[in-house]
Amino acid sequence: MSLRIDVLTVFPGMLRGFFGESILRRAVAMGAAEIHAVDLRDFSHDARGTLDDKPYGGGAGMLMKPEPLFEAVESLRRPDTHVVAMSPQGVPFRQDAARRLAKESHLIFLCGHYEGMDERAVETLADEQLSIGDYVLTNGALPAAVVIDSVTRLLPGVLGGGEEATAKESFSEGLLEQAQYTRPPVWRGQCVPEVLLNGDHARMERWRRHQMLDRTVRHRPDLIQQ
Ligand code: SAM
Repeated sequence: MSLRIDVLTVFPGMLRGFFGESILRRAVAMGAAEIHAVDLRDFSHDARGTLDDKPYGGGAGMLMKPEPLFEAVESLRRPDTHVVAMSPQGVPFRQDAARRLAKESHLIFLCGHYEGMDERAVETLADEQLSIGDYVLTNGALPAAVVIDSVTRLLPGVLGGGEEATAKESFSEGLLEQAQYTRPPVWRGQCVPEVLLNGDHARMERWRRHQMLDRTVRHRPDLIQQ
């Protein structure tokens, strides 16, 4: 089954290059995903492509009008559609959400611009709101791209190496991944840990677990608390 993704944005050009590279390109080429950057201006109600208006109550900046958002979603919605609105006020995006979204069959991403979207559009159209972090970007295209990348690489067969490629990486076991090394075994006096060279898999696994815990305690103690 292929995952269809529609990204509703004022800036489809920001995404088309991104979708045409690397793992996303491979996912599309192998039929695991179908990804469309949809230009919200196609749903504007005037020849100038207006999508924004002044917020009620005043305040700086402009707000995305509800009509183009409603009409774009309604033109694409299927019975199995799950709509995600990108917002700095959303739930922080995490790997478990990426795994959940990778099981969907149709995702629509609503990307805000200006001061954001009219609340009626978000409340009515979105099944959930996701934030990629506690900072504010100018528009939702990059946040949507972040989520789409992390979801698409989890689709079956997209990464080489099968299930193991995503089962043993940061966050998949609640911890950060261990340090990794490749050849040469010595580079400018720095050696690859001896445990990785001697072929003792039980010892290697113990070292891996220890490394994961140690790195998580040092870099992300909040993950241990969770
Ligand atoms: N006025 C809004 C606020 O203070 O919460 C910020 C709007 S922001 C300038 C414009 C759009 O960028 C948002 O509607 C959202 O789609 C996107 N965006 C910005 N930062 C984001 C983040 N950290 N996570 C997800 N989306 C974000």
